[in-house]
Amino acid sequence: MLTVYPDYYPAFRCIAGACRHSCCIGWEIDIDEESLARYKAMHDPLGERLRRNISADDPPHFVLGERERCPFLNERNLCDLILEGGEGLLCQICDDHPRFRNFLPGYTEIGLGLCCEGAAQLILSQQEPVQLLSEGNWEEKDPDAEALLALRKQAFAIVQDRSLSIDKRMDKLLLLCQACEPGHPADWVDVFLELERLDEGWTAMLQKLEQDGKTIPVPDVPDVQWEQLLVYFLYRHFLTAWEDGDVGSKAGFAVLSVRLLRCLKGLFPQVELAELARMYSAEIEYSNENMDILFDELL
Ligand code: SF4
Repeated sequence: MLTVYPDYYPAFRCIAGACRHSCCIGWEIDIDEESLARYKAMHDPLGERLRRNISADDPPHFVLGERERCPFLNERNLCDLILEGGEGLLCQICDDHPRFRNFLPGYTEIGLGLCCEGAAQLILSQQEPVQLLSEGNWEEKDPDAEALLALRKQAFAIVQDRSLSIDKRMDKLLLLCQACEPGHPADWVDVFLELERLDEGWTAMLQKLEQDGKTIPVPDVPDVQWEQLLVYFLYRHFLTAWEDGDVGSKAGFAVLSVRLLRCLKGLFPQVELAELARMYSAEIEYSNENMDILFDELL
């Protein structure tokens, strides 16, 4: 098995108490069977507390407390399970977040999701072109999988070509992948408003985008940050074309996402780009349903 990851991946650290949008707030965390069995076998006060805060519904999960906080997230925004029992006590989802994985036969890619504040800051702080590193061997290569990876390599080369403006790079990317031109993000607001949404602030941003999005100047953000976002979106979604055979919608999504974030940064210059990217990712990328609708719209 070959495992691939971006060069910044090993540098990721959860920022824990400093995180303003902790993943331990607002998400109902399902508990895997192995962790549940371990929790049930604990007979100390922590075990008692665990059992009091787990719903037996299918699937079993931690019952959110006040303001939708995980019952083990303390007032300093630190995890009591880690503090009292160590990281080994975390259930699978908590242990894995914010990592995502994509698979080809005999080949796994792993990355960090942009909806995590720490990951968003790390990704946007990269100055050099991101490279992919690997461990292990790809024993039985599949020609179609190799072709998909070769096309993505070309896509990376285009978006990391610093002799070109970011707009030119996006145009070339769309051409390479024979993607539909997504157009201006303000014209997508109706579609975004139809999607499942988490945060009222996101709705307000979309409304402002529809109202003023076409008249704002391009924000003063170094191209390298847009480059890192393009690479991220391609890395995260391009290989899902293995399932549906369509690379155009994946390239279109990367371009639409960066254009939308550029508009939002222009409309809300006081908000850090990492925060806008985090919010976008949480609203869009963490709902398979939302992603399917957007990919269909981009066909
Ligand atoms: S969102 Fe990321 S940085 Fe924040 S608490 Fe979760 S893992 Fe840590």
